[in-house]
Amino acid sequence: MSSVIDLHSHSTISDGLFTPSELIRRADAHGVRVLALTDHDDVAGLDEARAAAAEAGIALVNGVEISVTWNKRCVHIVGLRIDPAYEPLRNGLAAIRAGRGERAMHIAAGLERAGIPGSLEGAYAYAANPGIISRTHFARFLVAKGIVKDTRTVFKKYLVKGKPGYVEHSWADFSDAIGWIRASGGIAVLAHPGRYDLGRTNLDSLIADFKEAGGEAIEVVTGNHTANQFIQFANYAKEFDLLASCGSDFHGVGESYMDLGRLPALPPGCKPVWHNWPEMSPEHVGRKSEAPSATGVPSTTADNAALIRPTY
Ligand code: AMP
Ligand code: MN
Ligand code: MN
Ligand code: MN
Repeated sequence: MSSVIDLHSHSTISDGLFTPSELIRRADAHGVRVLALTDHDDVAGLDEARAAAAEAGIALVNGVEISVTWNKRCVHIVGLRIDPAYEPLRNGLAAIRAGRGERAMHIAAGLERAGIPGSLEGAYAYAANPGIISRTHFARFLVAKGIVKDTRTVFKKYLVKGKPGYVEHSWADFSDAIGWIRASGGIAVLAHPGRYDLGRTNLDSLIADFKEAGGEAIEVVTGNHTANQFIQFANYAKEFDLLASCGSDFHGVGESYMDLGRLPALPPGCKPVWHNWPEMSPEHVGRKSEAPSATGVPSTTADNAALIRPTY
């Protein structure tokens, strides 16, 4: 059985491989009834997604995934049920996008020093939306050039801290981003907390700071977490009195670990972030027993097995 709720996904507006309409159609085909489109630092895909969702009978949740800096690290905060027209949010996202252009030039310069010329133009050729030029687009270029075998390896060899294409960058202020989401009527969700490679002390302080700044939920079930991390972050959610979210973080076939509509259920005892949402009416999600998903067993369906590479 498929999971009907998926609250984290990407389209070509950021670094996904499907257009917003294609993404919605795939979600529909996979049995998703409530989908959040959460492109990085841009809400430009939501109109197209909403139109496609109306056609498919899917409830679209307006979302965004904001890149922020916390203690000199980049972390991601997902905004759900945001108002994409809210000016301070729009302005904040525009500022992040502006920073991405400059960063891309530095990434390209670093790669050039490592003997790889032409990556700026190369990466932009893979970015349907040049405003969200990201490391993913550089990775796709390097793979297409035959320099590295897959995007995961590109990250490891070129695009992470200490490697030639890594550039320190100042993203949005942590509290500001949470503030924009909340003031626009949305809910701030700490994305994939298990992927930041933080020790227990730092993880505790990230989650405490997040809560203190007005964050209300954390991703418990995500394509980026292992089955043990589902349990670990369900416990964090309880300990910090945070709501629990679930989302595939689907970017595209071959680039994501988990496909749309293939999420395991939240562990018992979690209070779902959607507990009071009108989108969760039976009209959208069918019988209550079908929400949110399958069996509670980490999903290893054939569909997910084909999507071999974890994304962040
Ligand atoms: P950026 O926002 O430019 O820093 O790019 C971050 C994006 O790169 C994430 O949203 C992921 O989609 C992707 N990413 C990050 N780390 C990896 C990795 N190790 N393997 C594959 N994709 C990655
Ligand atoms: Mn991404
Ligand atoms: Mn994401
Ligand atoms: Mn992310």
